[in-house]
Amino acid sequence: YAKRVSKKNYHFFDDEIRTQTINELEIENNLREALLLNELEVHYQPIVSNRTKKIESFEALIRWNSTKLGYIYPDAFIPIAEKTGLIIDIGAFVLEKACSFIADLNRRSEMKYGVSVNISVVQLMEDHFASQVLQIVEASQLPKDLLTLEITESMMMEGNENILAKIFYLKNQNIGISLDDFGTGYSSFNNLIRLPLSYIKLDRSVMKDSIVNENVFKLLESVVIFAHKAGIEVVAEGIENDDYLKRSDAMGIDFLQGYYFSRPVGESQVKKILNK
Ligand code: C2E
Ligand code: MG
Ligand code: MG
Ligand code: MG
Repeated sequence: YAKRVSKKNYHFFDDEIRTQTINELEIENNLREALLLNELEVHYQPIVSNRTKKIESFEALIRWNSTKLGYIYPDAFIPIAEKTGLIIDIGAFVLEKACSFIADLNRRSEMKYGVSVNISVVQLMEDHFASQVLQIVEASQLPKDLLTLEITESMMMEGNENILAKIFYLKNQNIGISLDDFGTGYSSFNNLIRLPLSYIKLDRSVMKDSIVNENVFKLLESVVIFAHKAGIEVVAEGIENDDYLKRSDAMGIDFLQGYYFSRPVGESQVKKILNK
């Protein structure tokens, strides 16, 4: 699909790269230096209010343009970063970048945009994770309620009370908690009930299914009803066209994210989008 978006500013990679098999060890060896070599970048994808269709916040998504290996997608290197522990430094880098970029953006605009940052379970297992997050967000001067941490359900599978305690602590500090990739893997009632969620993000695969499968639609509609009763807002991912928009409307979704509005883009492109 890269051909359709071959505009220079979008760091989009083509199908060849998506499918090319780069050896894990090669990724690992190069990833160690990626931070030092300044090869890692954070891109931002707008999250739009379904009611006003205005941008409310951005999801920060890491990008790696390796001098040696070319563009590598997060799906290919995040698991390796987790396995090697490199995700600790990489995660801190993304958080710092994202908070300071959005804080700066907000200083120059009337709007107060929020930012969502993906967090790995490996980061959550670190003892100092919660204090580090607070330190980073405070240093950036981004109001804490404008930061949201995206966690996935697989993290909660560990049943780790320690992780749960950190999530509650951060939520009590006014940082948002979002349940990412809902509908994939291990979705359970348990997580919906026990986590202090601000948002549920419906994964793009279930959004897609909801267009062709009426029962999936009904189930997601019920999730939205539950969420609202529990004071949780719902974000739909992977909004690519009008069909998704109509489905989202019918479900009562609060926020929309997807290529229909914008792909993830670099800092200068964010400013351009907001100036329009
Ligand atoms: P995610 O958090 O679920 O992020 C959404 C993914 O969907 C992103 O892929 C985004 O580019 C893609 N996407 C957004 N809209 C559309 C659409 O309309 N259609 C399609 N087909 N795709 C869409 P990306 O950037 O490749 O990231 C993949 C995953 O890598 C993320 O999934 C997240 O789990 C992980 N990731 C990305 N950045 C970070 C990071 O900084 N830290 C951690 N721990 N994980 C990250
Ligand atoms: Mg996410
Ligand atoms: Mg997601
Ligand atoms: Mg996802």
